[in-house]
Parts: sequence; structure tokens; C-alpha cells
Amino acid sequence: MKVIFHKRFYEVYTHDPAAAGGRMEAIVKALEGEFEFAEPEPASEKDLERVHGKNHIQSVKRDPMVYEVGLLATGGAILAAKMAFEGQAAFGLIRPPGHHASPHSCWGFCYFNNIAIAIKKLISEGKIKHALILDFDLHYGDGTANTFGNSKEVRYFHPEGTNRETFLQDLERSLQTETPYEIIGVSAGFDRHEKDWGGLLKTEDYLTIGKWVKDYSLNRCQGRRFGVLEGGYNHSVLGKNVRSFLQGLGN
Ligand SMILES: [Zn+2]
Repeated sequence: MKVIFHKRFYEVYTHDPAAAGGRMEAIVKALEGEFEFAEPEPASEKDLERVHGKNHIQSVKRDPMVYEVGLLATGGAILAAKMAFEGQAAFGLIRPPGHHASPHSCWGFCYFNNIAIAIKKLISEGKIKHALILDFDLHYGDGTANTFGNSKEVRYFHPEGTNRETFLQDLERSLQTETPYEIIGVSAGFDRHEKDWGGLLKTEDYLTIGKWVKDYSLNRCQGRRFGVLEGGYNHSVLGKNVRSFLQGLGN
């Protein structure tokens, strides 16, 4: 299990909860010593264009700091997906998040759709034909859903459930009944935790979800699995929640 991280993700690039000071520090502190870290290269503009229109890219570019950190975040997702394709499970500890970034617009603290770009790159390079994206963030990833629409190549799945049991059941059942894909990517948002905005999941549930993703990948897609960070805003529990997920997803 490799953690993809760049020290520029510490930068407070704007004023929103995803960009808050101390957020990445809390996660890095919880993972250091247990996981190996790797540094991403920035994505290229050509990579952004795999999902986004030129006007959208130009509008993000008007804020150079957001643009530069955004390129690194997308580069982190690309590296995590590449490692997963090559057989090494990986997690993009990146920000800004991406799942609310659609081809021509964005909102919800997102600018570029990191996971969608990473998957599209693998497909356009001919490495895979089909991918499954599981998004367990509290919020529906409209940007990812809009990117792939009714695509037969990529399935986007966002489990629902009004209580902990039904949410976990929905997620588990869906993974069990999914057809095989060639890779699974996870939009990992931790804002559904009981001490975060969603008030639902316990820390141990992220370990369980990580294990289910790992089992799915071993049974259905040659073990190819990766995740990228989306939401998660309570710094006092975020680190242990990410660690829990990675312990399940990894070994
Ligand atoms: Zn969220």
C-alpha cells in the first residue's frame, strides 16, 4: 500500500473546509511510520482535457495557487491509478477533492475530477476497458456521475442508507453483485463518520469497507484497487478514519 502525497497539499489554497489548515497534517500524522509515501508529478493540461472543457480549465487557472495544487492533486490520482493497474494498491492523499467537478463546472470545494481523469487516462492508454468507481463520501459525486453518464465503460456507484446498517448493507451487497471490471477506484470521503457532518459511520466501518474493496478486487479485478481522498472535515477523527480504511484496503 502506497500513499501518494505532496507537501504542497498542506497549503491553504482557498477558504473552504477541504482546504483548511491542519487537515492534511492530521492525516499524515496518523499514517506516518505505517505506510510508505510517494510523491506525484502534476497532471498535464492534456490530462485535464480528458474530462474538462477548455473554458472550465481556464476559469480555474485564474487562481494560480488553486490551479497548481489542483494539478498536483489530479497527478496524485493518476499515480495511484497507475500503481493500482500495475498491481500495487495505492491511496491518493490529495486535495482539492474532485467528485463535484463536472466536465464544464464545479462546486463543493472541487475543481478537477481527480478520479475521473485518472480512470479516463487508463482507458485512453488502452490499459483497461472497464472500471468501477465506488464513492462512499457523504455527498453524491455529481461530477463523476456527469462525466461518465450512461457510459458502458465506467460504472459509478454511491451507496445510500439512512442508518449505519442499511448503508453498509447497500455497499456490501452492491460489491457482491457487481460484474467484473478491470480496476476499482474509490472516492473515499470520510464526512459520513459519526463525528463528522453525516453522523453515521464508526471508525471501524472504514476498515470493513476497505476489506470489502480489497476482496472485490482480488476476486474480480486482479487485485487492482486504489482510493483518493474526497471529503472529511473533523480533524480530530479524520486521521484515524483514513488509517482504518487503508488498513483494510492494503494488506
Ligand atoms: Zn462530502
